[in-house]
Formats: sequence, C-alpha cells, structure tokens
Amino acid sequence: MKVTEHINKANGKTQFSFEILPPLKGQNITSIFNNIDPLMEFEPPFIDVTYHREEYIYKNLGDGLLKKQVVKKRPGTVGICAAIQNRYEVDAIPHILCGGFTKEDTENFLIDLDFLGIDNVVALRGDAIKTETYFTPEKEGHSYASELVTQISSLNKGVYLDDELLNSSPTDFCIGVGAYPEKHMEAPSLDSDIHFLKKKIKNGADYIVTQMFFDNKKYFDFVDKCRSEGITVPIIPGLKPIATKKHLNMIPYRFSVDLPEDLVLEIIKCKDNSQVRQVGVEWCIEQSKELQKAGIPVLHYYSMGKSDNIKQIANEVF
Ligand code: FAD
Repeated sequence: MKVTEHINKANGKTQFSFEILPPLKGQNITSIFNNIDPLMEFEPPFIDVTYHREEYIYKNLGDGLLKKQVVKKRPGTVGICAAIQNRYEVDAIPHILCGGFTKEDTENFLIDLDFLGIDNVVALRGDAIKTETYFTPEKEGHSYASELVTQISSLNKGVYLDDELLNSSPTDFCIGVGAYPEKHMEAPSLDSDIHFLKKKIKNGADYIVTQMFFDNKKYFDFVDKCRSEGITVPIIPGLKPIATKKHLNMIPYRFSVDLPEDLVLEIIKCKDNSQVRQVGVEWCIEQSKELQKAGIPVLHYYSMGKSDNIKQIANEVF
C-alpha cells in the first residue's frame, strides 16, 4: 500500500515508522531482523531502507603505489526491502539516488522494485562521494532529485527510456522526497531550497520526509512556509535521538542542523554515553509528544540500525 494511502486510512491517528541501514558488507540479514523485531509491536505502516552509493578506497600496493578501488560498503537495499515485505508483511521503502546511477540503471532498478511488489520509493540526489567535495552526477544520470522524480513519474505513465517499446506497462510508485527544515547545506537560502522542493512536488512527488531536527519550532515554521508556498502534500518529520557525546559535533557537521542549547547542556553534564542515550531518548519523547498533539500523521525515526532507544521512545508515545 502507498504511504499516502496509509496516511488517509489512519484517519488522523499519528503512526510510527522508522528507517534502517543495510548492514555492512559481510554481515548477514539477521542483524536487521534483530533490530526490526522489537519495533513491530508499534505497527509501522512502512519501513524505509537507505541506499548507500559507492566509495573509493585506495589500496597500498607498496613502493609508493596506490590502487584506486570502487567499493559499496552497504549493498543490499532492494534485497532487504523484499525480505522485510516477505517476513513482516509491511511496506518497505527503498531509497533511490541520482548519485552513481545512469538513467538506464534507474529504470532497471525501478523495474526490479515493481516486479517485487514494492510500490513506494524515496527519491534523493545523494551526497558527493566521500572523498570528493561536490556532488557529480553520472554522465547519463540526474543532477537533482527533481529530475529523478520526473523519471519515476514518467514510468508511472508507462513512458520508458526506449520510446519504441510497445504496450509498455506503467508502474505505480508513490514517490517520497527529502526536505530540510533548517535548509539543505548547499542551498543559498531556505527560500531557494523550498523553490526547488516545489519543483519535486510539481514533477510528481507525493509526500515529503524531513531531515532530522531537534527543535520542533523549526519543523512547524518550515511546514508553515511550505504551505504558504502552495505545497500541500504530507510533510513527515524525521526524528533522531542523540545517543553518544560524539553526536554533539558529528550531527551538526554531517547534517547541517543545530542542537538547542538546553539539549547541549544536558548532554555535556552526562558522565558516560549511557546517560547521553537516556537524555536523547527523553528529548525525543518530548518532541514526539508535541508533534503527535499537533496531529502530525506519521513520526519517522532514524534508527541507524539500533532499535533499543527507538523502542523506549515508541513505548512512551504510541
Ligand atoms: P535535491 O533535492 O536534488 O537538492 C540538493 C541541493 O540542490 C539543494 O541545496 C537544493 O536546494 C538544490 N537544488 C535542487 N534543484 C536545483 C536546481 N534545479 N538548480 C540548482 N539547485 C538545485 N542519502 C543517501 O546517500 N542515501 C539515503 O538513503 C538517504 N536518505 C535520505 C532520507 C531523507 C529523508 C533525507 C532528508 C536525506 C537523505 N539522504 C540520503 C541525504 C541526501 O541524499 C542528501 O541530503 C543530498 O545532499 C540531497 O539530496 P536531495 O534529494 O534533498 O537533493
């Protein structure tokens, strides 16, 4: 079932969903199931699975020689989605990127999803490759998520890249896109970012999932701004509980979001990471309760592969 249908069916009740990462190459799928199992009692209508593009590593061959190798450290997004749908009978949503994909790769990826009965995707540009500063699209690929949305929407109309195909079957994907209440790190201004967000909706996106935020006011202001710009689709908030002291610097650096002073002070006071984890859980419970009270249709948690803190939060909120 599509995310938009899940929202309509819930009749105003706030639902619980979460995002997982594929395991590092070499690990098996049991680690994924072990993290999902404890969260199933909260009846998530869907579970997102992130996509991780290739990285470059440099192997030392000795004598000052380095060999550049392309590796994917977390493959398996589509396989995990199929396994989730099969095991839990819940919708699994793969993320799909512009980065590392030609249009042909994208089309073939979408065909696989369609054949597997996966009817939701989150369409994203992706970041630059880890060793590079700026995002570079594939030669035959997309530069922005809005272009990827157009390709998916076209496939939904039965328009494939090869326009000589006869009797081509349309797909029926519900398309999610990302958005940033505190502005995407490369955007010159929030207005500019929302301008391009509108383009993603115009090109066919059905709903939005936000980047994590730690101050609900940022989310509420963002939603108001989107609504005043004519964006009417659901805007699902993304939430992440802080879990380690390292997050104090890593989260603002990596995701370009601010941490409220009160939260920072609470974390600094903690003696170890188990105390930090508890502070993170309590902060996220407060955020969740306020969003729930405001009638937000779905709260989407970034689990980062660990479910114990998400379960603690869900126990209090759902
Ligand atoms: P876009 O919407 O393409 O925007 C990127 C930047 O370009 C923005 O600054 C925007 O304002 C600007 N822009 C857009 N269109 C134009 C235009 N036509 N001209 C000029 N500027 C333009 N990354 C992963 O690698 N894997 C994942 O699974 C993943 N999941 C995510 C899930 C969510 C909910 C979110 C919010 C992010 C996720 N990301 C993931 C991170 C995401 O890939 C990065 O934040 C990326 O840098 C931007 O992706 P986007 O789809 O928002 O890009």
